[in-house]
Amino acid sequence: MSTYLDDFKKMKDYLICVDSDGCAMDTMDIKHIQCFGPCMVEEWELSEWKAPILERWNVINLYSMTRGINRFKGLAMALQEINDTYCKIEDVDVLAKWVEGSDELSNPALEREITNNESIILKKALSWSQKVNVSINALSDDEKLPFEGVKEALAYAHQFCDIAIVSSANRQAVEDEWALYHLVEHVDIILAQDVGSKAFCIQELLKKGYDKANVLMVGDAPGDMDAADKSDVSYYPILVKYEKESWAEFENIVIGRLIAGSYTGEYEQVKRNQFFENLQ
Ligand SMILES: [Mg+2]
Repeated sequence: MSTYLDDFKKMKDYLICVDSDGCAMDTMDIKHIQCFGPCMVEEWELSEWKAPILERWNVINLYSMTRGINRFKGLAMALQEINDTYCKIEDVDVLAKWVEGSDELSNPALEREITNNESIILKKALSWSQKVNVSINALSDDEKLPFEGVKEALAYAHQFCDIAIVSSANRQAVEDEWALYHLVEHVDIILAQDVGSKAFCIQELLKKGYDKANVLMVGDAPGDMDAADKSDVSYYPILVKYEKESWAEFENIVIGRLIAGSYTGEYEQVKRNQFFENLQ
């Protein structure tokens, strides 16, 4: 297995790019339900409206077309709604403005912004984000399981295809999670947050010599589909709440079709339609 692009060489004619969180690893629900949402309720003292606020948090970040958006974008959306519905959120527009204008949305970028702008909401957003990280790190290993059937599906695909993890998560977290349940045995390269955007990662892999028609991005969120589209490769969705069925179909039908040249086109369009309907 290669860790970095420079060391990686194309071995097979087909390439599967697979996202990690919420696609191969069943880590998204637990992170949002137990960490992101509750930390927001705590930071902004929203316990009076806890149940409906957490429900909306989960819809925004897990069960609608904004699934998988950047944490600060999700926060700005949620706080705007809370400000309109429940109680005044001080400086709510300042956060919205930073989220729209900043070309990097991360803790270090927010820390830099705070040196110029001491708005309370920016300080609270940073504090929230740091507490979220602590709370995610405190999740036990048995709460970070792969979805059922992922290992078998990847093992099958690996006979015919090179396999790359393409994730926007932190590299160490991806390496640890994929090692824990031995999924990494079926992976040829790990491309994470430190390499660049998902589209950039796919395009760098294409430079290794794959025919675009032989490359498939597998993901669970609209951002994964966008990365596939920007790179002109096919997309296969793992449907939220139907992950097990999606991986079984990947193993039993999709790999065969990819190799036969019959995935792209009508079949892919059906899968894309199901993906949209499932996030409505
Ligand atoms: Mg994902």
